[in-house]
Amino acid sequence: MTNEERIIDYYSNLCKVLNQNGFKVKGNLGNKQYELDYKVDYVQPRLTMMQITRNIDAYIFLEQHGFIRKDICQFCGEKLVSNSYTFTEPINKVKLHICHKCHPEGKIYGKKGNAGCLILMFLPILIPVALILIFVLFKS
Ligand SMILES: [Zn+2]
Repeated sequence: MTNEERIIDYYSNLCKVLNQNGFKVKGNLGNKQYELDYKVDYVQPRLTMMQITRNIDAYIFLEQHGFIRKDICQFCGEKLVSNSYTFTEPINKVKLHICHKCHPEGKIYGKKGNAGCLILMFLPILIPVALILIFVLFKS
């Protein structure tokens, strides 16, 4: 089993347990509140774990019932050799055990938070807009 298969398998199980026990992903879209089932993010699997830790009740439920594995990296599924690296989730301050490879990435994620993500999201839009502006300016 590869790390990716292991983490997907693990996350799938966590989502299944949460859905079976009535936990929901809650959020706001504009003024509308929504509730969704937990599901694995296959594009960025670790976001599944971030989503779970945002609902502290859901995370505590999993931990108390022994579903949170202590022997693998919570981000990539790597089998842990030590417990020295943790990632502190910024909202509920949940400490996740991760491997040394995920540790530098976790730090960046924790610091930049949403601002970093937003900039990354808008970059593909900003670059073409800038190019068009330059083109138009030079033409006239
Ligand atoms: Zn890892």
